[in-house]
Amino acid sequence: QLPGTAPKSAAYRNDRNHVFHSWSAQATLDPVVVTGAKGARFWDESGRTWLDFSSQLVNVNVGHQHPKLIAAIQAQAAKLCTVAPYHASEATSEAARLIAEVAPGDLNKVFFTNGGAEAIENALRMARHHTGRHKVLAAYRSYHGATSGANTLTGDPRRWGSEPGMPGVVHFWGPYLYRSAFHATTPAEECERALSHLADVLMMEGPHTVAAIVLETVVGGNGILVPPDGYLQGVRRLCDQHGIVMISDEVMTGFGRCGEWFAVNRWDVTPDLITFAKGVNCGYVPLGGVILSDRIAETFAHRAYPGGLTYSGHPLACAAAVACIHIYREERIFEHARHLGENVIGPALEALQQRHPSVGEVRGLGAFWAIELVRNRKTREPLVPYNASGPANAPMAELVSACKERGVWPFTHFNRMHVVPPLTMTDDEAREGLALIDEVLSLADRHVSG
Ligand code: PLP
Repeated sequence: QLPGTAPKSAAYRNDRNHVFHSWSAQATLDPVVVTGAKGARFWDESGRTWLDFSSQLVNVNVGHQHPKLIAAIQAQAAKLCTVAPYHASEATSEAARLIAEVAPGDLNKVFFTNGGAEAIENALRMARHHTGRHKVLAAYRSYHGATSGANTLTGDPRRWGSEPGMPGVVHFWGPYLYRSAFHATTPAEECERALSHLADVLMMEGPHTVAAIVLETVVGGNGILVPPDGYLQGVRRLCDQHGIVMISDEVMTGFGRCGEWFAVNRWDVTPDLITFAKGVNCGYVPLGGVILSDRIAETFAHRAYPGGLTYSGHPLACAAAVACIHIYREERIFEHARHLGENVIGPALEALQQRHPSVGEVRGLGAFWAIELVRNRKTREPLVPYNASGPANAPMAELVSACKERGVWPFTHFNRMHVVPPLTMTDDEAREGLALIDEVLSLADRHVSG
């Protein structure tokens, strides 16, 4: 049978007839019906298998169908599936205790949500009530979620569809040396100029009107932008100077993606609030949350916090978080993530850069890497224009199809391919996928000129 001519299953037909998918023109979709997964691979109903270089949406840190995580969810389901958030439960309180234990500094209390966007919404609300101020600063080239406030903070085209959004949000440029908004040529210059730009934005906005600065510690979906040393410390200083709440969005970076519990650990910075989701339990059951510093938690000690969710602290999700944190520790998974970055993915991407003229830059850490594709290394013209779709995006669409045909499931965004596998991927699996990406990049090389 030719590909695409197999009779469609009921799952596929029901999906096309009744499931309304995220971020998509519904009529153009042709989803894969995933029927199973194990470790770093997943497969469809016809038996086609892919090596997961996307960790789905960068959430399956311990890999697919981890037996201990499944067992913990099954045990909790048999014991207590759900309770209202005003009760205490064993799973919820143990998850909060463990998260506080691994969080930096005095971040000791956890407000649980169902995912990342709700975590951002609640962090904003906490910051506003804590400071009595309204304005919030967020970076261009960022993603914070698709609910109203989180989407307004987002500094990429995903915001445009829901504008005007929430009032009081101001965007600034963060550090990104390869395409520096500040014409910087070294990391130190980029750091200093990005901080001076942020200080200027604060001056023009009136620092006394600003409740919070929200930042992805390492920018994820918008390009794996690792901040230069000193930048986050500088943001911390500006926040301290002006009584502004520092919110670190660690939805994608937290729980090992960058080889640490939280990416802020790498720079020894303690924010006032951390938002998390994804890796906290790898999305086996939806969960996110905000970790609060003692000072911010104290604001709500005798004043009611004006927010809540029916499923806040859901026992099934929290039991999965408890199991997941134990797995991270027992299986030394973050050490493996660092090893993958330092000894397998990083060196392999550097070799790809040597071989392929379409590779403008490779960057990342842990199991969190990007290949930035260009048409010209000198001008750094991107392989496809910013936010391209349709024919203008053809070179990237071609790469995606070629990866999938060869059995590797990629994560791409604009002119970048990200390498974001489960942290548990073996060296051999990573090398297998990277060799396939090597083949595929020859297609991108054909668009290079100059
Ligand atoms: N913040 C960051 C940094 C993210 O990467 C995402 C999702 O990718 C979110 C927030 C939103 O999380 P969710 O999709 O769980 O609402």
